[in-house]
Amino acid sequence: MTGTTSDVLTVEGLRKTYALPGGGRLTAVDGVGFAVPRGGSLGIVGESGSGKTTVARMLVGLVRPDAGTVTVAGRTREPRTPRGRTARLARAREIQMVFQDPYVSLDPRLTSHECLLTALRLHGAPASEADAKARTLLDQVGLGSREAGARPHGLSGGQRQRLAIARALAVDPRVLVLDEAVAALDVSIQAQILQLLGEIRRETGVALVFVSHDLAVVRHVTDETLVMCRGEAVEQGPTARVLADPRAPYTRALLAAVPREGWDPGEAVRAARAGAR
Ligand code: ADP
Ligand code: MG
Repeated sequence: MTGTTSDVLTVEGLRKTYALPGGGRLTAVDGVGFAVPRGGSLGIVGESGSGKTTVARMLVGLVRPDAGTVTVAGRTREPRTPRGRTARLARAREIQMVFQDPYVSLDPRLTSHECLLTALRLHGAPASEADAKARTLLDQVGLGSREAGARPHGLSGGQRQRLAIARALAVDPRVLVLDEAVAALDVSIQAQILQLLGEIRRETGVALVFVSHDLAVVRHVTDETLVMCRGEAVEQGPTARVLADPRAPYTRALLAAVPREGWDPGEAVRAARAGAR
């Protein structure tokens, strides 16, 4: 799929294979392409193992694709992380990623305010401005003065995820990729974070790529949805249409299953296939 000039992110023909321990190769992602307009929001859904995280990691450059391109604001990203600080930082400003568990990526020694100051200073904000910018970011994600002075272990899961979002926004990225970013949170906290993401998108114009196994989550934050099954995109379209009128049998099976505690979409799909026989 070729993007238009209004697209901030264009992805074409992404492919990734992994060597299997017993020989041969596993195709994790095969021929995935999509485009996201400026300020747009795309959901990538599918059961566990369908290749969503591999796509997300190829977008930000954590996984090197075997084939395909990722273009941000008209610039095609090099498959290798560039050498040199300036080039690396410029690349980081294009796409930022928020993970499921911010514990892993947050420095336990830094308070929220220090964490944001560090990100801002790394990206060249003058000391005189960084402090005010850090406070603005904290405010933007709804963290108050107590949370500003707290370290990660002193924050709740939802607050840590707010901090991770603020840190990603510190570099003013064009695209924010969120991989199962609310999966570990209680439903009520999930709703708050989803609402926050909607506000941030409207205020900053950042485009979102929202990866989730949970269709209910995607419903609230995305304009477009791409459904993945075994590494391939099996359906793509406006989220409301995909949910109301799914065309691919796989999407229908995903939707037919009622999400509940411990729900496994893979099981649901197998059950639906068995039932159809
Ligand atoms: P999802 O995020 O949808 O659960 P992933 O992208 O994590 O899916 O994984 C897709 C497939 O690729 C899975 O079969 C997974 O086991 C495999 N895979 C992912 N990362 C690696 C890796 N580093 N080495 C080998 N296989 C991998
Ligand atoms: Mg994943």
